Amino acid sequence: MEDQKTEFDRWLKEHFPAARIRFHEPMRCHTTFRAGGPARFMVMPENEEEIALLTARCRRIGLSWFVIGNGSNLLVSDRGYDGLIIKLGRQYAGMSTEGCEIRAQAGVMLSRLSRQAALRDLAGLAFASGIPGTLGGGLMMNAGAYGGELSQAVKSVRVLDGEGQIRTLTKEQMKFGYRTSVLKESGLIALEAVLSLTPGDGKRLLLEMEELNRKRREKQPLEYGSAGSTFKRPAGYFAGQLIEQAGLKGLSVGDAQVSEKHCGFVINRGNASAAEIYTLCRMVQERVYKQFQVELTMEVRLLGEF
Ligand SMILES: Cc1cc2nc3c(=O)[nH]c(=O)nc-3n(C[C@H](O)[C@H](O)[C@H](O)COP(=O)(O)OP(=O)(O)OC[C@H]3O[C@@H](n4cnc5c(N)ncnc54)[C@H](O)[C@@H]3O)c2cc1C
Repeated sequence: MEDQKTEFDRWLKEHFPAARIRFHEPMRCHTTFRAGGPARFMVMPENEEEIALLTARCRRIGLSWFVIGNGSNLLVSDRGYDGLIIKLGRQYAGMSTEGCEIRAQAGVMLSRLSRQAALRDLAGLAFASGIPGTLGGGLMMNAGAYGGELSQAVKSVRVLDGEGQIRTLTKEQMKFGYRTSVLKESGLIALEAVLSLTPGDGKRLLLEMEELNRKRREKQPLEYGSAGSTFKRPAGYFAGQLIEQAGLKGLSVGDAQVSEKHCGFVINRGNASAAEIYTLCRMVQERVYKQFQVELTMEVRLLGEF
C-alpha cells in the first residue's frame, strides 16, 4: 500500500494546485475540538468533478476517504487518519437564489447561508445561524436548534454515491431523523442542496438571528474548543441535565473537561488530546448509566482508532 500512497502523492501534485492539497496535515487545525493527529492526504476540491475524480482514484487504488466540512462535529484520533480527507469548505461554497429557493454547495457555512437568506427576505434558516458547520455536515446531521431543523427547509440534495454516480435525492429519500439522515451510513457525499424557504422580513430575521446568537453566547462555552453537544438528547431527558445531576460538572481528564457552563459540552481547555476527550466521554457515559440507567450516545462523529 505504501507504493500506492507514494504514487497517489505524485498524482495529487499533478492534478491539484499546491494551495489546495496537504500531506500529513494535523487534524487539530480542521476540527473545532482542536485535537487530532495527521491526515495522510487532504484535498480541498472546488467542484463536483474534482470530488468525483478523487473518489474514483481512491476506489481504484483501495485508499479510504472521508469527507469533512468545518469539523465541528468530529473527533479525530491522535493517530490521525491514514487516507484522504476531502474537505468541502469555502472553495466549494457557491450559492444562487431563485424565487423562494436557494441552491447552495455543500461547503457553505450555515451562518452565511442563513444570513444570505435573510438578506433576500427569505425565512426558514434563522435557527441555523449560530451552528458552526457547513451545509454538507448539517445535512448529514440534520442540524437543528431552537425548534428548527435543516430537514424543514430541504427540497432536494444532489449526492455522489460510492460507485461514482451523481443522483438527486428528494427530502423523503434523505430519511431525516433526529441528528441523522441517509448520508450517515450510506457513504453518500452531499454535493449541493436546494432549500425551499418562505417570504419573510429580512430585518426581523437578522434581529432574530442576533438574539439567538446572544442566547448561545450566554449559555454555551464558546470560548473553548468543543463539538457542541457531545451527546444526543436521550428520549425524555436532557443530556446536560443528567450529567450535572450525576455530579460530573467540571470533571476533567487532562485538558478535556465537562464544561462548567453547560454540562452537555465536553470542552478542550487548551491542549487536550483526542484520547483524553474520548476517555472523558466514556467516563461520562458510564457514570450517567450507573446512576440513571440512561444510555448517552455520542452525537460527535469519531474518525480513526480510539
Ligand atoms: C459551539 C458549537 C455549537 C453547536 N451547536 C449545534 C446546534 O445548535 N445544533 C446542531 O445540530 N449542531 C450543533 N453543533 C454541531 C455541528 O456544528 C453540526 O453538527 C454541524 O452540522 C456539523 O457540520 P460540519 O460541516 O462541521 O461537519 P463535520 O464535523 O465536518 O462532519 C460531521 C459529519 O458530517 C459528514 N459530512 C460533512 N460534510 C459532508 C458532505 N458534504 N457529505 C456527506 N457527509 C458530510 C462528515 O463525514 C462527518 O461524519 C455545534 C458545534 C459547536 C462546536
